[in-house]
Amino acid sequence: MKLTRTKWDAKSLALDETLFHTANGYLGVRGCFEEGCPEGTATIRGCYINGVYDTVPLSYPERLFGFPEEAQRLVNLPDVQTMRLFLDGEEFSLFGGGDVLAYERVLDTDSGTVSRKIRWKSPKGATVDIEITRVASFVRQELFLTLYSVTSVDFDGEIELISSVDCNVSNFVDASDPRVASERLRHIFPKTAKFSRGVGVVECRTGVSDICIAICQQHCISRDADINTSVVDSGIETRIKTRLQPTDGFLVEKFTTLSDSRRQENPRTYAREVLADAVATGSEELLQEQSDFLADFWRGAKVEINGCSKLQDGMEFNMYQLLQSAGHDSITSVASKGISGEGYEGHYFWDTEIYIFPFFLYTRPQIAKNLLGFRYNTLDGARAHAAIMGHTRGALYPWRTISGSECSSFFPAGSAQYHLTGDVAHAFMQYYYATGDMDFMAAKGLEVLIETARLWLDAGNFGADGKFHIHSVTGPDEYTCCVSDNYYTNRCAQHNLWGAVEIYNLLKDAGRLGQLKIAFDEQELADFTYAADEMFLPYDNDLGIHAQDSSFLQKPVWDLAATPKEKFPLLLHYHPLYLYRYQVCKQADTVLAHFLFEDGVTDDIMRRSYEYYDKITTHDSSLSGCVFGIMASRLGLGEKAYEYFVDTVCGDLDNIHGNTRDGLHVANLGGAWLAVVCGFAGLRLRNDGLYFRFTLPREWDAYSFHVRYRGSLLKVTVNRQGGGVELISGAAVPVIIER
Ligand code: BGC
Repeated sequence: MKLTRTKWDAKSLALDETLFHTANGYLGVRGCFEEGCPEGTATIRGCYINGVYDTVPLSYPERLFGFPEEAQRLVNLPDVQTMRLFLDGEEFSLFGGGDVLAYERVLDTDSGTVSRKIRWKSPKGATVDIEITRVASFVRQELFLTLYSVTSVDFDGEIELISSVDCNVSNFVDASDPRVASERLRHIFPKTAKFSRGVGVVECRTGVSDICIAICQQHCISRDADINTSVVDSGIETRIKTRLQPTDGFLVEKFTTLSDSRRQENPRTYAREVLADAVATGSEELLQEQSDFLADFWRGAKVEINGCSKLQDGMEFNMYQLLQSAGHDSITSVASKGISGEGYEGHYFWDTEIYIFPFFLYTRPQIAKNLLGFRYNTLDGARAHAAIMGHTRGALYPWRTISGSECSSFFPAGSAQYHLTGDVAHAFMQYYYATGDMDFMAAKGLEVLIETARLWLDAGNFGADGKFHIHSVTGPDEYTCCVSDNYYTNRCAQHNLWGAVEIYNLLKDAGRLGQLKIAFDEQELADFTYAADEMFLPYDNDLGIHAQDSSFLQKPVWDLAATPKEKFPLLLHYHPLYLYRYQVCKQADTVLAHFLFEDGVTDDIMRRSYEYYDKITTHDSSLSGCVFGIMASRLGLGEKAYEYFVDTVCGDLDNIHGNTRDGLHVANLGGAWLAVVCGFAGLRLRNDGLYFRFTLPREWDAYSFHVRYRGSLLKVTVNRQGGGVELISGAAVPVIIER
């Protein structure tokens, strides 16, 4: 698809910087204008490396035991995108001075590029065509390439381009929004800047976490020009000068590589090597590589909707953004805003495991595996976090993190969300069911499943009723905190406990327990099973629904119809405690449990639950609508499903939550994919096969998508005749179509 703008608007600059950002899972550059904007323009100029953070102190008026003392924050790195253009000394700018005669910006998800084409007439009347193309290479993750061309229409004179690496940067701040950092701190400190053998090299460090970032830059020019790079206070600056006559063209290829000490022992050497290799390869071949990579990606991931090109494009946009966002090195995960902005400070949440992971599991299982690798590599952090929270055993994954420790300063809607640990376990189980990868489960999966299962035994207790209860936790719905027996959490815990037993037995039968690195006593298996079997699952007999938690249904119902529009999202207008005292949900909670854990729940219960919670959910979180949409499909509520789907698909493209300027809502992007695959097509993964229950929205003639399952690639088509599953490559696999 192509996302195209033929106009630009100063009011939506920051929004478009997110939508047109270029990223590859490792680095992300916001779609800011190379030439910059005047002081005071609402823009968020940003360049990030996934997982490159600084440590910031967390301050509390009253610090109680166990509150995290510091947090990690994604760092805005030196600005590598700036290129200022001068025509005989007149500076090119879209903001006043001169006329913009034509403008087009295009994000192309097949070529993996973002380009801008501008015909500009300078104040003195000279006209040029400017075309700028950017690439964050999927094949060479450290490479950011800018191709900047100027063609004279009627200009005859000297042209100058000033390109720089500018270390004078800080993070974005919005004190009025808790979802964005509220304190400006300087995080980047330049160490060295040099220019040698045609390459500018800047090394800098983050202030407290002391991560080294090396940036190398080289310019290749298509015609004779003066080129001069100098070290300046803020980094390096390259000035390129040449003369143009009417119809003359001039292309600057700007190669920038970034590397960091979390991945490389010597980032400078590494960035230099990648740069040399990229320059030797040349931009033409690099562009080819990029589109070849994407052709392969789309072959295994394509979703087609016959009947609505807007939604088709929306889906492609979302899937492309998922690919741009996902860390794939087991050192990083997927930040809730990807690498497109600084919202939520670049933290990883449960968003990854429940909303994003399935997309990769079924399209690029290697990325899914690496996302689990991140959780495995931060298992020690989860053990340490469990200990801080008073547990004598087990692992409790932090609510929000970059490097593995808890970064949430508000525990009721943070650390108390124990379900995240069950969500991680759920992803490990799904990975096993979808791939059958015993090696991974033997080496890593079982350890995670056992440690997370242990957590539940330690966190919960058997009550006088003989049931296993889990108290003082928060479920997914952040408008209801620190409750007993949150249904979603208890289902997650149950699944985790049973899952640990299932995988242990499987590996035992296969004689593959040898790789387990922790001591494990088989008595624990019995304890796991017993707690899971006896898990308390709150149910209200009068309403015939699962209660969100033990006290939820006893609270007054919030009157959503009488709440003024401007009071949404409620979290920005009401004290949390006030919200907690009502039946009002920020997002899907019990309804999400019905999607993930169907077993033992009748359709009638699911339907009543859906109807009940639908009325009291604000969807103030972008993680919500897609889940209601999926369940609406499951329950045969086609119209509702479609409504939710449309809002989900266009979430960022239409800026539905009003804050896409701070970054994409990546979970929601994954949710859109889930809404088609698990919603309309009803995919459910069980240990014995892939199950489908097809539905076709009235508005469409047909739709199709691809999934990988146990090493085979399948194409699923749903049409007015019903539909079917075609084996594209690999061996036959168990697929069950339920009618
Ligand atoms: C949601 C969480 C989510 C977080 C990051 C919050 O608004 O309530 O469920 O994990 O955003 O996306």
